Amino acid sequence: MKGTVLVIGGGIAGMRAAVELLLQRFKVYLLEEGTCIGGKTATIDQLFPPSEHAACAIQPLILELTSNPNATILTSSKVLSLHGGPGDFKVEVLTEQAGTKGDSQSTELTVGAVIVTKGPEIESAESLEQLGLEFNDKGYIKKDPHSNHPCRTSRSGVFMCGTAQKPKEIGELVVQACAAAAAAAALLAPVRGSELVTPTESTTLPISPTDEPKIAVVIDRGDVNLSEVLNLDEYTRTLPGVECVEITSYSDNGSKITELLGTGDFNRLVVAGPSPITHEYLFQRHAENTGLNRFLLEIVNLHNHCARVHSDNGAAATNKARILMKMGIARARLLEPIGQLRVTITQRCLVVGGSPAGVACAAKLAEMGLQVELVELTGDLTKVPGNDQQIVTPLLDRCRAQENIHVHTQTRVESVEGRMGNFKVNLVREGETTTVEVGAIVMAAVMDVENESEGAGLEEALALQRGEDGFYISTEGAMNLLDFDTAGAFNCGSARAMLTTEDALIDGEAAASRAACIIASNTMTRPPTISDVIDKNCDGCAYCVDTCPTRSITLLEFMLSGDIKKVVEVSERTCIGCGICMSTCPKKGIDVKHYRLEFFSEMVKTALENAGDEPVIVSFCCNRCAYPAADAAGSAGIQYPASIRIIRTVCSGMIHPNIIMDALTQGADGVLLCGCHPGNCRSREGIRKALDRKEAIELMLEDFGLEPERFRLEHIAASEGPKFAQVVRDMTDELSSLGPSPYRQNP
Ligand code: SF4
Ligand code: SF4
Repeated sequence: MKGTVLVIGGGIAGMRAAVELLLQRFKVYLLEEGTCIGGKTATIDQLFPPSEHAACAIQPLILELTSNPNATILTSSKVLSLHGGPGDFKVEVLTEQAGTKGDSQSTELTVGAVIVTKGPEIESAESLEQLGLEFNDKGYIKKDPHSNHPCRTSRSGVFMCGTAQKPKEIGELVVQACAAAAAAAALLAPVRGSELVTPTESTTLPISPTDEPKIAVVIDRGDVNLSEVLNLDEYTRTLPGVECVEITSYSDNGSKITELLGTGDFNRLVVAGPSPITHEYLFQRHAENTGLNRFLLEIVNLHNHCARVHSDNGAAATNKARILMKMGIARARLLEPIGQLRVTITQRCLVVGGSPAGVACAAKLAEMGLQVELVELTGDLTKVPGNDQQIVTPLLDRCRAQENIHVHTQTRVESVEGRMGNFKVNLVREGETTTVEVGAIVMAAVMDVENESEGAGLEEALALQRGEDGFYISTEGAMNLLDFDTAGAFNCGSARAMLTTEDALIDGEAAASRAACIIASNTMTRPPTISDVIDKNCDGCAYCVDTCPTRSITLLEFMLSGDIKKVVEVSERTCIGCGICMSTCPKKGIDVKHYRLEFFSEMVKTALENAGDEPVIVSFCCNRCAYPAADAAGSAGIQYPASIRIIRTVCSGMIHPNIIMDALTQGADGVLLCGCHPGNCRSREGIRKALDRKEAIELMLEDFGLEPERFRLEHIAASEGPKFAQVVRDMTDELSSLGPSPYRQNP
C-alpha cells in the first residue's frame, strides 16, 4: 500500500484536498492540465460573500503546496492511463515540457488513491476517460451506484469532489474536498507517514540583539497605488534603520521579498500594504523561506487603515500613511528573533453531539485510526434527530463497535482548558465529572436555542458565537465554513447550518479531515508569542498568578545567596499569550514575546510626533475583534477621520493602565481601547479585565487634570466595520470640542 495520493485538478477543490492530505502526513501529487495552479479563483476579484479577495483566500493553499517537500505539482499534465486498485495504482502521466509545443514527457507514478476534482470543463476531458470511471451524458463522473457517498466513484480507491460531479459554490467545493481527502486518508491510514520526506531545516540568519537594524521595506501598492497617491517611498527611505524601499504588488507572490532577503543584507522586513490579519502568516513564510526569522517581520496596514478609509482626503491620508509607516519602522527596530515552540499533541478528538454529522465525523476519524470521545446529551444515539434515517444506521453501528470511539451518552461538556493540540475537557454525567484530553474539538450538536446543548460549556471557553438563527458562526469566508476562530475547534452539520442528512454526513466527514490535520501528527510547532518572565524585575508578588485565565503561572520560591527568592514561572504548554499578566504586573516583571511593553511605548511615542491641528487618538485594537473591524471598514471603504493611530494588540486585556496614561500624558488627545463584546473574548477574561480597570483609569485622568472623555473603552466585533468608523467619528468630534490635550507638545 502506498501513502501517496494523486489529486487531479489544481483548482480550489484540488488544492484544498491536497493540503488536507499533506497536513495528515500523506505525500501528494497535484496534477493540473493548465500551466499554473489556482484555477478560476485565482483570476476572479472577490469571493462570494464578498468578504475577501479571491487571490488572497487561496494564497495559503498555494504557499503550502509550493513549499511542502511532500507535494509535487505537475502542471501542463494529464493522465494517460490508470492501472491497479485501491492502495496501489500505477498512473501514466504526460507532461508537456515548458516552453515547447508538442514536446512531452511521460512519467509513471505509484499512488495509493486518486481524487478527481475536475469534470468536463477541462480541455483534456478525454483524459478523465482513462481513469476507468462511469460518466453521465453531460460528462460528469457518476457516483458509485452501491453507495450514497457523493465522493465515491464506481472505481474503488478513486474519489471525486469539486466540479467532477456537478458545478458547485466555493463553500460546497471546500467541504467536499475535505470529505474526499478524509475518504482517501481512511483508505491509506495504515501507511500514513510512510513515504514522507523530512523537510530540511531552513537555515536562519543569526541575529544578535546588538546588531544594528537593517530594514528592508516592501510597499505593496494594492488596489490604490500607494507609491503615487501617498508618495511614501521617498519618505520611508529617510527613517532610521531603513536600508532599502521597494514598491511591488501582492500578486508577485512574494518574489520581491525573496529577492531582497536572499541578498542577506537585511535583518528586518517591513511590508506596508495589506492587513496582518490576512497576510501575516503568508509574509512570515516568505521571510522564513529566505532565512529570516518570522518574528522579524512587521506589517504596516496601509490599505485598510489608511488609503481606503481616507480616500476622500488625500492630504490627511498622506500624512497618516507616513505616521503609520514611522510607527511600524519603530516597532520593527525592536523586534527580536523567536524560535518556534514544538509541543506534543494529544492524538484524540472530542466530537460534541451524536447528530448525523457527529457520528459521521467520529466514524471517519476512527477509520483513519484516530481516537475519538463522542459526547451526546441524550441517553441514546438512535434518538438524536436525523439518526433514524437509513443512511445513518451503519455509522451508528460503527460508533458502537469501534474500539477507538468512546461514546459518552447523557453527558455534557462542563468546561475546557488549554489550546489546539492539548485541550483538557471536563465532562459531566449525572453529576460526576470526568476529564478527557484531546488535541482537537468538533462541534456537531443539534442546535436548540431554547434548551441546553451538550456543548454549552464549550461556548464560553472557546468563545463560540451563535448567529440569530441559533447556529454557531464559523470563521468568516467561504473557504472556512468548517473552522471556528479558535484554532483546533471545528464546526459542522446541525451545529453550523440547516442541512439535509446527506449533506450533514459529508460535513461530518469533512470536519474529521480538518481535525485529523491536527491530530494525525504527534507534535506541532506553536507560535512562541507567549509570556516571558523578566527575572530581574519580578519580585514574586504573585499578583499575576490568579489573573491568568489558563492558570499557566506558578509561583516559585527558592534560596539564593542565603535569601528567599520568589519568582513566577509560565507554562509554555498552556499559555495563550493574552498578556493579562503583563497588564496586571506592577513591576514590569512579565511581558509577552513579540508584544512587549517597550514595543507599545515606542509606537505610542512615534504616533504622537509631529501631530498637526487635528485631534490625535491612539487606539489599541484587539487582534480578534476590533482590529479586523477596522479592516472591515477599510474593505468597505467607509470614510472616517484620519485622527486615529491603530496599534494591534493580542487582547484588550493586555494593555497596562500605565501605557494608556503614558499616551495621554505624552500628548495624545484621546485613547481608544477596543475589545470584544463581553462573552466573546478569546482570552476568556481579557475584556473583563479591561472593564475592571476603566474606573481606575478614570480616577487617574482626574488626577492628571484630564477630562474623562479622553479615554474610551468600546466593544466592537470583527464584523462591525461601520460601528468602528462611527466610534472614531464620535470620539474625534468630542475631542475637537474639548480642544487639544494640555499635555500636547504643540497645543
Ligand atoms: S510577574 Fe509581576 S505580578 Fe507576577 S509575580 Fe512577578 S512582579 Fe508580581
Ligand atoms: S499571557 Fe495570558 S495565558 Fe499566558 S501567562 Fe499571561 S495571563 Fe496567562
